[in-house]
Amino acid sequence: MKDAIIIDNYIGGQWKPPANRERLESINPANKREVMGYVANSTDFELNEAVYAAETARLLWRKKTGAERGQLLVRTAELLESRLDEIGETMCREMGKTFAEARGETARGAAILRYYAGEGMRKIGDVIPSSDAEAFLFTTRVPLGVIGVISPWNFPVAIPIWKMAPALIYGNTVVWKPAVETAVTAAAVMQCFHDAGFPLGAVNMIVGSGAVVGNGMANHPGIHGITFTGSNSVGKQVGQAALARGAKYQLEMGGKNPIIIAGDADLDLAVDAVISGGLRSTGQKCTATSRVIVERSIYELFKTKLLEKVATLKVGNGMDPSVWLGPCANEKQLETVLRYIQKGKEEGAVLLYGGTQPEDSDLSDGFYITPAVFDRVESRMSIAQEEIFGPVLALIEARDFEDAITLANDTSYGLSASIYTKNIGNVLSFVQNMEAGLIRVNAETAGVELQAPFGGMKQSSSHSREQGQAAIEFFTSVKTVFIKP
Ligand code: NAD
Repeated sequence: MKDAIIIDNYIGGQWKPPANRERLESINPANKREVMGYVANSTDFELNEAVYAAETARLLWRKKTGAERGQLLVRTAELLESRLDEIGETMCREMGKTFAEARGETARGAAILRYYAGEGMRKIGDVIPSSDAEAFLFTTRVPLGVIGVISPWNFPVAIPIWKMAPALIYGNTVVWKPAVETAVTAAAVMQCFHDAGFPLGAVNMIVGSGAVVGNGMANHPGIHGITFTGSNSVGKQVGQAALARGAKYQLEMGGKNPIIIAGDADLDLAVDAVISGGLRSTGQKCTATSRVIVERSIYELFKTKLLEKVATLKVGNGMDPSVWLGPCANEKQLETVLRYIQKGKEEGAVLLYGGTQPEDSDLSDGFYITPAVFDRVESRMSIAQEEIFGPVLALIEARDFEDAITLANDTSYGLSASIYTKNIGNVLSFVQNMEAGLIRVNAETAGVELQAPFGGMKQSSSHSREQGQAAIEFFTSVKTVFIKP
């Protein structure tokens, strides 16, 4: 057990404790007795200070060239890369994903920074033929101003970076509110920005509860754009608050992602995709596979193969390299998963495997659960409709391929969807008819490429896409310029 550390706010280039000196706790989900950090419980006072620092800094920051801003992003990437083990271990201990996944996520954060550094040198407008032969008509883009970033605990490095990197490269300044549950990891990320030498106030971090700091950000008149990733219910509140005061907002929320296993699929590959997509990070990914829709002709065979493999997955502390599934990230999440497992049984689904807290005494202080596989799930059931955010797979039998598509679309979410098939007709039908922002063929639902647009349909997302060049839409405003010589 390591000593807990104090996590303060980062405002105007300085680490500062909150004025009220109040602290929240971030604890290790593998061992609830271990406090990872005593984290600032900030209020509007610190938020105002951070917004003021960001507002002051933006006048200087927007005057820098894209190349100058990019150099600082590259420097931050280098620092993250030099601290992969340290930050990976902190993340593993603070939110439970395995060390390999946590280290990989940190490397992904660095790759995102490098990608957006390049964006500082790419085009930001178009020339348009004018109806006046003498005039010059073109568009250019300007920064929005101060951007509020609200991020969840499940990807404590990659998600905030995929928001902050484009915000900064396009000339905005940032106030970031990480989740309390992963504030120690967040502080390690913030330290990289600090050490890279950003101008004072260009990036700020305020730690505190969602109800106070997050809600305060959504309502703050000094924040010109707010980008949120988290649950659907909170996202809607953030969107409404931003809309009410005319601020721009972007929401990435939950998912209930289907994978279709067609009758002609390679079942071994499909099993691997379901396990990786559904159970990595203990199922706590917005793009995690949760509905496994299998054509009747291969249902029993697929089920047998899936169960064989799920039974081999080791649950335990993610710092142990032989462990495949770490604990749920916090107690609330474990309780939610247990509640849905109970509900699934009550509604008539058959629990074929797992869904219990391991009996191993070494694991008794952590928020562990064995991966659950439900059989005979019907689309109307809660476990087929509501986001669980845990290692729970719902097997749904489809009469045929057409029925599989109908079942896959039968949800209010639309983030990611995948299919395993060798039939081009099935592929085309899936691409055309699936209501999801991320369509994946012969690949798991949970893959995300940093250079491509990311976001969902229906209740999963609202407004412009994140990642890749699509991010420019949110983080800038377009100016249409007409020049008459
Ligand atoms: P959450 O909505 O509880 O919290 C997300 C963030 O919002 C946290 O920083 C939290 O402190 C803050 N917050 C809480 N209440 C707030 C309020 N009233 N006003 C403003 N901010 C507030 O979500 P979580 O439990 O941290 O994360 C899990 C959720 O995130 C899941 O639903 C998951 O699907 C979603 N998620 C979505 C994506 C995506 O890209 N679509 C990615 C990762 C996670």
